Amino acid sequence: MRIGYGFDSHEFRAGIPLKIGGIVLAHDQGLGGHSDGDVLLHALTDALLGGIAAPDIGTLFPPSDAKWKGADSVIFLREALQRLRDAGYGVANVDACLILAAPKIGPHATAIRMRVAELLGVPADCVGLKAKTPEGLNQEHAAVAHVVVLLKEKKVRQRKK
Ligand code: MG
Repeated sequence: MRIGYGFDSHEFRAGIPLKIGGIVLAHDQGLGGHSDGDVLLHALTDALLGGIAAPDIGTLFPPSDAKWKGADSVIFLREALQRLRDAGYGVANVDACLILAAPKIGPHATAIRMRVAELLGVPADCVGLKAKTPEGLNQEHAAVAHVVVLLKEKKVRQRKK
């Protein structure tokens, strides 16, 4: 067994879609960034990569590379999952915490959990999601995500030689 941890933050900007956990949420602002700004998928990707001591998301997909401008963050997650498989590990469960002032995540939590579970290939009850408002943190302009993952070793014969 291994654990992985990931953190990310993005600033809210007007005029762009808000993507969190691979789905678009109705809101008057989105999250800026070089890619699609999906703060949750970025933290999740880094948690998976960190759990197998692989290079982090910024190293694999540098913002300086125009190739990743506006990129769907699912691409980053899929690369992390491939590296995880190559290393002989699978996802046991994920727990995530979002910190943002708006929109309220509660009404969307099930949809986000189901989409993340689908992307990871795990049951929805293996993806936890909590959302907090940034009380006292003075960071209403940003969305933050923390993610931990538990990785389980697959049977040796399934490992890539
Ligand atoms: Mg990011």
